[in-house]
Amino acid sequence: MKIILSTDILSSNQDQASLNRKTLQEHGVQVFNLISSPGSGKTTLLCQTIRLLQPELRVGVIEGDIFTARDAERISQVCPDVVQLNTRGGCHLDARMIAAALKEFDLGKIDILFIENVGNLVCPAEFDLGEDEKIAVLSVAEGDDKPEKYPFAFQEAAAVVINKTDLIPYTNFDIAYARAQIRQLQPDAPIFEISTPQETGFSPWIAYLRQKAARRRGQRQS
Ligand code: MG
Ligand code: ZN
Repeated sequence: MKIILSTDILSSNQDQASLNRKTLQEHGVQVFNLISSPGSGKTTLLCQTIRLLQPELRVGVIEGDIFTARDAERISQVCPDVVQLNTRGGCHLDARMIAAALKEFDLGKIDILFIENVGNLVCPAEFDLGEDEKIAVLSVAEGDDKPEKYPFAFQEAAAVVINKTDLIPYTNFDIAYARAQIRQLQPDAPIFEISTPQETGFSPWIAYLRQKAARRRGQRQS
């Protein structure tokens, strides 16, 4: 009998993630791995983000879902370079799945790759996919105590989006409280407050993404 412990799964995942990262860096691709619970508005946020980044930046998307290609279909309306990964029950993406998806892209023609992880704030935080940064997305409809309840997701995040801020009047979400909780877990991460329907808060978010992509291109040329 052979027993495979989760530490082994994580260490082999780490090897593949390192390979992914090397490939992506060689092609000058800046990669963001978006993690959140289901229904935080990642796909809607991504659609508008991609509209604002193009055409100056070339964008690719890997859509992770348990079943269906619904989100990839939505993304494909704004971005032709999208690959759907279905985990068929799995609750996170792993580095091997990303390696398979990367084969579908012409990486030399992509500046920014977004990975929309499976909606789940637990294990996606533990799996390195080869990304440059994890971005945690938290919608105001979920409650301002999410960071305390799922600290690892926020500790791992290089930046945090507080999404659906247009809904604040209809909730008891305390944005100052949420920001303070995030700050305790990640003192340096920028926090972006965004509403897609109202189109507010995008400027600093888009500037952040552009700056990261420009830095990556600079590294590639040097
Ligand atoms: Mg989605
Ligand atoms: Zn999982």
